[in-house]
Amino acid sequence: MTDPDTQPIKIDGYHAHVYYDTETRRRAQRLRETIAGALGVEVRELSDEPRGPHPVPQFRFTFTAAQFENVVPWLMLNREGLDVLVHPLTDNSYDDHSRYAVWLGSPVALKLNTMRRTYRAEQYPTAR
Ligand code: ZN
Repeated sequence: MTDPDTQPIKIDGYHAHVYYDTETRRRAQRLRETIAGALGVEVRELSDEPRGPHPVPQFRFTFTAAQFENVVPWLMLNREGLDVLVHPLTDNSYDDHSRYAVWLGSPVALKLNTMRRTYRAEQYPTAR
């Protein structure tokens, strides 16, 4: 008998979502530029509107499993007081944003019921 819980779960990379509001937007913009220059990750533009499960403004960057050990400690030390979600990219985005999520700072209440289970191709790291 195969127990699904013992099957290894494949991780195809990670997202970090950095949350901000009108007061912290400039800080988020600065952090985004620093990340783009320092970490060699794929950084998206600031998203001032709620998007998907994210109920407040955020920007996202994508990184590979190999980059995790550099990126996450860097974020621990340099997140400028902003709240950050780090989640893996498995085949279940709902779990990625809930039971597998790691938060730096305070968790944001995500709108999990609006999520689709699978990711679009552009949400994965280019190289993985
Ligand atoms: Zn994400």
